[in-house]
Amino acid sequence: MYNDIVNFIHKLYRTEEFVPLHAPLFIGNEKKYLDECIDTTFVSSVGKFVDRFEEEIAAYTGAKKAVVCVSGTNALHMAMLLADIKREDEVLTQALTFIATCNAISYIGACPVFIDVDKDTLGLSPKAIEQWLEKNAELKNGTCYNKNSGRRVRACIPMHTFGHPVKIDELVDICKDWHIELIEDAAESIGSFYKGQHTGTFGKVGVISFNGNKTITTGGGGILLFQDEELGRLAKHLTTQAKVPHRWAFVHDHIGYNYRMPNINAALGCAQLENLERYVEDKRETADIYKKFFATISDVTFFTEPKNCRSNYWLNVIIMKDKKAQQDFLEYTNDNGVMTRPVWELMPRLKMFERCETDGLVNTEWLADRIVNIPSSVRLER
Ligand SMILES: *Cc1c(COP(=O)(O)O)cnc(C)c1O
Repeated sequence: MYNDIVNFIHKLYRTEEFVPLHAPLFIGNEKKYLDECIDTTFVSSVGKFVDRFEEEIAAYTGAKKAVVCVSGTNALHMAMLLADIKREDEVLTQALTFIATCNAISYIGACPVFIDVDKDTLGLSPKAIEQWLEKNAELKNGTCYNKNSGRRVRACIPMHTFGHPVKIDELVDICKDWHIELIEDAAESIGSFYKGQHTGTFGKVGVISFNGNKTITTGGGGILLFQDEELGRLAKHLTTQAKVPHRWAFVHDHIGYNYRMPNINAALGCAQLENLERYVEDKRETADIYKKFFATISDVTFFTEPKNCRSNYWLNVIIMKDKKAQQDFLEYTNDNGVMTRPVWELMPRLKMFERCETDGLVNTEWLADRIVNIPSSVRLER
């Protein structure tokens, strides 16, 4: 049976060679824009592509302002700073995420608290958040505290796993009730919409990544999304060394960061963005082909987008029968020219986070034993 799956994937990607999980694709103006950077010498921190990329991402996502960063990870770090998260604050998030989410929390000196995910979104569960808060938290003078640890519960960071939107409107309401800041790790979900609104535009700040393995890439890079323009302007200031604008004087008014995306990366991003809708359409078509195929395979379920969503299907997911099947399948496919991957090792299983509080993580652990990511590159012109 695993042999049928391997053959199917080779045929899908029209190759007998190794099929990677997600390869970037350059079929537009990438070279033209990069040439322009080199010809004009604007390769670094000054140049028109940075502003253009920010404006175009803001227009595409519906954010009031977008601010580019060198990576999604430092965009997340900046988001934590802007949400005024402090040392020893607690941040509610998923155990089922890429480590960047928790690294950013750690840069601040804050502590993640790991809450369960929903099986139908693979992302943070509003019900589980509500249950944890009702059991463990209290509001004192408008601030949410963990009754057990005594720490302030400052923020909640859901992640739109593999591009599938979480039930973000419910999380918005819960965070409002409990006076908790909402930051969206939308690193994987460019092109994914929840009830017609782009992921990353529901919370105080949203973060998208343009790393090489994401749906579109700038080589390396990330962007912050804001509905509050004032906060967006502050982000721009802090990510550019907090330099007070002046023709020659170097004066700074904050501890700043050199987090600004260089112009060459933004140039790549502008070219990639021109093809984003084609990429997402292609990825959705691939998902549909997978869905039909896996309907014929017993004991394997293809994961489909949650209700009320348009997902970008960044990485396609199948759910295996049990952990044994998962391990066998990973071994067979990786031995036979098809790259597959389990979900990231759950955060509380890593030594840096093993002492962090969790809510038991029932669905999270069930999913971690069964999820396999299968090849998901855009198939256009390959
Ligand atoms: C890719 C990713 C990031 C950001 O990664 P960078 O490589 O720093 O751009 C953050 N969170 C999640 C969940 C990711 O998948």
